[in-house]
Amino acid sequence: MAPSPQTDPTALTALREAWVAALEEGLPAAQQVRERVHADPHLSGDEEPTATLLAEAMELDLERIAGTGRIGRLGPDGPAVMLRAEMDALPLTEQTGAPFAATTGAMHACGHDVHMAALVAVVRAARTLEADLPVGLVPLLQPREESYPFGAVDVTASGRLEEHRVGVAVGAHVHAGVPLGEVAIGAGVVNAAADSFVVRFRGTGGHGAYPHLGQDVMAAVATTALGLQEVVRRTVDPMRPCVLTVGHLSAGPEADNVLPETGRILGTLRTVDADDRAAVQEAIETLATRTAEAHGVVAEVEQTPAMPVLANDEALVGHMTPWLEELGVPVAAPMRSMGADDFSFYSDRLPAVMAFVGTRREGEDGVVGLHDARFLPPAELVGTVARVMVSGYLAGAQVLSDG
Ligand SMILES: [Zn+2]
Repeated sequence: MAPSPQTDPTALTALREAWVAALEEGLPAAQQVRERVHADPHLSGDEEPTATLLAEAMELDLERIAGTGRIGRLGPDGPAVMLRAEMDALPLTEQTGAPFAATTGAMHACGHDVHMAALVAVVRAARTLEADLPVGLVPLLQPREESYPFGAVDVTASGRLEEHRVGVAVGAHVHAGVPLGEVAIGAGVVNAAADSFVVRFRGTGGHGAYPHLGQDVMAAVATTALGLQEVVRRTVDPMRPCVLTVGHLSAGPEADNVLPETGRILGTLRTVDADDRAAVQEAIETLATRTAEAHGVVAEVEQTPAMPVLANDEALVGHMTPWLEELGVPVAAPMRSMGADDFSFYSDRLPAVMAFVGTRREGEDGVVGLHDARFLPPAELVGTVARVMVSGYLAGAQVLSDG
């Protein structure tokens, strides 16, 4: 796209001022949206009532996408910046004591209620200045961020991002790893690739008194579980993060005198480098099958790729940082973690930025983090996340016009 007069700094600054003024006016309504979606949470795949509520609040024509998701469009034809909010809740019994706490055994414990309310505020404000938007603005209400099959996979497979010529994706996520109200947007990898694996062991079993006559998968399971930690140390340069966690192991029935016939290990692998990912997966296979062999039993390994690495685009981060400062949002040190978010399916194919918005209060006893039944980001973060989204859009418009 040729540089347009609408992306010159003066025009963008004027747009930013008008947008923030409209945002401020709309924040009380956005707080109500936050409280309503928080009080009525819906699990992955069941977000229909949430999508309906948000579509009404946005007062924008939205199309269905990825099952219960919705996608819309504002501004001119041509390239667009997508702003994404996730809609699903978690199966937790809320313990926040908030007046709008959920009572259904589901809970917005990942801050998605804040992200959704912020996106509503941004879109409602943008509608009042649509003629001044330099590039398209595509709001996405995404389902199933928390569980497989991930909503982002269906969104990318739908062809709609190409239809809307989405050239930049912007996401924001509250996070207890960042000080309250600050925003971390480091360039490069911010979340790991996440893969899962299962190792299934088989042997003949036998009597606990006569192990020499049978085949015992128990020792193979235990030895493999410990050996897997060595795999990381022997395969990956310690200067690059890699985590392999065994989350489950089991073998046989609950009996003290039976050699089990079958056993199972479930694990997660987190990497930040594609070669490491392939090398560790191969090493898991070798270790499990050879350890089983050494114990006279058989092992099969099944590896399921889950999510690619989430990387923030350098140019986008470069443009976004000064906008955040202008919007009065303090920029924190980059936050990188071995966590994962299906936003990585967008960053895998488009310049993208995931901004982490802090919830950690200084001096607080113990940090209440994501997926905790006591997690309740303060109301003011709806406005902060909204400003982050506006900054991301303005930076995205610049990246699209540079390109
Ligand atoms: Zn989340």
